[in-house]
Amino acid sequence: MRIIQCAICETNKYSEILFPETTDFSKIDKDIFSARRIPDRVHYRLLRCEKCGLIFSSPILSEKAIRKLYRESRLTYEQEIVSLKETYGSYLKKTLQHSVKNPKLLEIGGGNGFFLEKAKEMGLTKVYGVEPSQDGVNQARSDIKKNMIVDFFPSQKIKKSSFDIICIFQTLDHIIDPNSFLEECRKALRKNGLVLCIHHNTDGLSVKLLREKSPIFDIEHIFLFNKDNLSKIFTRNGFKTVEVFDVKNTFPLRYWIRMFPLPLKIKTNLINLLKFIRLDNIPITLSAGNIGIIARK
Ligand SMILES: [Zn+2]
Repeated sequence: MRIIQCAICETNKYSEILFPETTDFSKIDKDIFSARRIPDRVHYRLLRCEKCGLIFSSPILSEKAIRKLYRESRLTYEQEIVSLKETYGSYLKKTLQHSVKNPKLLEIGGGNGFFLEKAKEMGLTKVYGVEPSQDGVNQARSDIKKNMIVDFFPSQKIKKSSFDIICIFQTLDHIIDPNSFLEECRKALRKNGLVLCIHHNTDGLSVKLLREKSPIFDIEHIFLFNKDNLSKIFTRNGFKTVEVFDVKNTFPLRYWIRMFPLPLKIKTNLINLLKFIRLDNIPITLSAGNIGIIARK
């Protein structure tokens, strides 16, 4: 097991136990690491740094074990892609207001490349992706797939100073060392390049209401941020914050039900019932606990 310390304060002097671990590590298999699966509330021991408010998992599995699980993980969020495309697309639009014309864009952790499809629909012609799951990349549309690398970031195949925008959706909180990750993002960006990064919010509604039962407390997440410490970690890695914001997500009703802390059987029955009466697909917009940052190199 690997000990993790606060990535902002670089010490565990101020760290206190928020929740003890729930996991029997002998039962871990690759399904636990599949994106957008039904939450089962498995998490490592969670610490909270009392100085900066950062919440993080420690101790965690070895990097080798985690990488293996991600490589083998399957992509299971097919149904929600239409909604995510719209959400991420709207924040890309915001980012483009600060960018050069027709920027060269890299997405880190792009799954099956659905966001890159959206970026193309929005008129961008130079879109690239890096994604560790072979299964994810296999599902990408052929024109997108040829621009995707199956690898972890940083990848040797990504040249320095070569991108204008880097997009990171629901990925930074999975990274074991966010400082070196952001440093590598900075290197991959051209001068004045931008990062658009979106993920969970530890000050969000789901944490306030559900506490430990919030789906954000999950074995996949190493570091969890709020608006304040999200801005801080970018600043300490040489970025200037352009904007930090709450993210509004629109999802079909069944998605919100799946995220709710109810027993799996009840959720499945409820979703089947809604499907039967054709209400499972109605779109619901909520600001339920995601934040984002646009930051400049
Ligand atoms: Zn700290």
